[in-house]
Amino acid sequence: MNRVRCLVLNAALGPLDYKVPEGMSVGPGHVVECPLGPRTIIGIVWESERLPGTEVPAEKLRPLRSILPVPPLSAPLRRLIEWTADYYVASLSSVARMALSSGGALKGPATITEYRLSGGMPERMTPQRHAAMEALEGEQATIRELAGIAGVSDGVLRGLVNQGVLEPVEVDCDRPFDQARPDFTQVDLSESQKIAADTLSEAVRQQKFAPYLLDGVTGSGKTETYFEPVAEALRMGRQVLVLLPEIALTENFLHRFEERFGVTPVLWHSSLKSTQRRRAWRNVASGDAQVVVGARSALFLPFRNLGFIVVDEAHETSFKQEDGVRYNARDVAVMRAHFESIPVVLASATPALESLQMAESGVYAKLDLPSRFGGAELPDIDTIDLTEEKPPQGMWLAQRLIDGIAERLERKEQSLLFLNRRGYAPLTLCRNCGFRFQCPNCSAWLVEHRFTRRLACHHCGHETPSPAACPECGEPDCLVACGPGVERIADEVAERLPDARVFVATSDTLNSPGRAAEFIAQVETGAIDVIVGTQLVTKGFHFPELTLVGVVDADLGLEGGDLRAGERTYQQVAQVAGRAGRGSKPGEVLIQTRHPEASVIAALAAGDRDAFYEAETEMRREAGAPPFGRWASIIISSEDEAEAREAARRIGDVRPDVPDLMILGPAPAPMALLRGRYRYRMLMNARRSVQLQDVIRRWLSSLDHPPGVRVGVDVDPYSFV
Ligand code: ADP
Ligand code: ZN
Repeated sequence: MNRVRCLVLNAALGPLDYKVPEGMSVGPGHVVECPLGPRTIIGIVWESERLPGTEVPAEKLRPLRSILPVPPLSAPLRRLIEWTADYYVASLSSVARMALSSGGALKGPATITEYRLSGGMPERMTPQRHAAMEALEGEQATIRELAGIAGVSDGVLRGLVNQGVLEPVEVDCDRPFDQARPDFTQVDLSESQKIAADTLSEAVRQQKFAPYLLDGVTGSGKTETYFEPVAEALRMGRQVLVLLPEIALTENFLHRFEERFGVTPVLWHSSLKSTQRRRAWRNVASGDAQVVVGARSALFLPFRNLGFIVVDEAHETSFKQEDGVRYNARDVAVMRAHFESIPVVLASATPALESLQMAESGVYAKLDLPSRFGGAELPDIDTIDLTEEKPPQGMWLAQRLIDGIAERLERKEQSLLFLNRRGYAPLTLCRNCGFRFQCPNCSAWLVEHRFTRRLACHHCGHETPSPAACPECGEPDCLVACGPGVERIADEVAERLPDARVFVATSDTLNSPGRAAEFIAQVETGAIDVIVGTQLVTKGFHFPELTLVGVVDADLGLEGGDLRAGERTYQQVAQVAGRAGRGSKPGEVLIQTRHPEASVIAALAAGDRDAFYEAETEMRREAGAPPFGRWASIIISSEDEAEAREAARRIGDVRPDVPDLMILGPAPAPMALLRGRYRYRMLMNARRSVQLQDVIRRWLSSLDHPPGVRVGVDVDPYSFV
């Protein structure tokens, strides 16, 4: 009799065996419907020898219901799912879920009814209808999605459908995307760009696993360089995946891609509509989608014919997923390339120490772009010691920085002020009674946002209108803002330089591709003089008239104190400094700090990257930190404080005793309360020889916890809060 083993999408269940019904032809990778009690769940047929399970006698097996109308998941993708689950101590089903990330796509070919404004008017116009119609201008989507866009109920829109104001449109869900043209434009590469591009193109032709680190200073043209091997993959009829860290920022990238290849690439990120999602997924699976540009989750798409992977800005911490399966997309990308037998390139001006180390030890081949394209010089960097050059009372910018901006205004050039803090002020307190506004769900202060007149938590999204009086003592007009956010810096610039046109660039103001495009256009046409921005503006942008970058508080990132703080500060400041002087005019960078002697700051000012990496490497080696040793965290949480504490204690009590493995905690996490959950942490530090994942798996599987307790494992953690 024919039987198969399935990985089913339910983390609580192990692999299950099923009978293959007469006439059904099924093999590894097929996505199937499996009976489970009275229900049906989705499963993936797997090689049974790779999924140990209990042998159920043949007569007890239930038959598979059906094979879903999608191509089977390829063997390389199945190996990637296994590796990811194993390495990050996650369940196979939770990783498999990331591959089957579009419910709609699994149902097979389909058309869908979308709606758009017909141009007609309702019989009776209400303010609500009017607002909805305004919001839906130019949109076409399902009723549910339109309701989301317009912020009204489905019912309101159904009313508009009945009156013919919204008209139905039949759409083929999976219509193909326009074809990219590898030779749409020709680019003249510089000498070093050409060497790197040729090496990568040759690797694409070789179709073998080959990891590369493209290490190029800001403005060296890394994008132009890796576009060549992308073109080569296209010529060979193979698919390409480009991972970008901040998908909100892709506008500039999409534009450049279109100029080079004649079409925009296929997009993949978490805010796609369900219809866009299924269309992308099915075209990726059929092999028709040529170049996918996506956030980290694109790594698990079912490519049929993948030929090349790019991880751009590979040092970015947003490649690290911080909940669910806590994986690092940069590392998983290398593994996907390994299983697919293809080249992968990590591109960055400030590579992670881990990546540099891999290059140094010869695991990754290193490609260098040592100078800016077109002869532009790297900017001059200088520090402003805030203990000497004090800003005026209640202000945050030293006079020298203000003078620098004023000079640029005069010359019709632009300035960028960088502060990685959204909002107006990070803390609000009552002058009368000392009350501080805290988030009810998190161990965090509420951040004042003056534009929207709200206090907001940046961890859980909790918001409340800024009150006129202190909620504790009732005193009116007694609330004071402590410390600066970007909005406050913008106010200060406006006050000290009244002629400057200032724009605050954060995820609050650049929250859609349209707004990002508008911002770029305004800078390019010179309608903005001073940009005040968070890390959102540290990368990707290329503004030739931007000649001054001011770092408002370089010490901010060092305060967190975790082992990567120095590296992160270096990367952030180097990236934002890289925005200055990218055109023909030279750039200047002024770094405000209270610790000009700190090794990170000194290395930045001296432009001595090697010195910084050497010191950092030594420090990591001594601490047994990555890449020399390994870390893992266990995070125990519950909505009930006592329950979380008890679970943490029990886990701590049975900690394994393994040589070369140090286990710290359990202790309340620095964010002891996050999104309404009380949290405890344990931290492990191990030599590379320790089979860390096996140890953790054995340890944690020996305990059961109440259903409200969550125990998460974070291998190679980035966050320690
Ligand atoms: P990086 O990503 O390395 O910081 P970019 O890829 O943004 O650098 O390139 C910087 C600027 O130089 C961009 O405007 C880009 O279009 C331009 N550029 C780079 N290489 C070339 C080239 N070979 N031909 C024309 N323009 C180039
Ligand atoms: Zn909160």
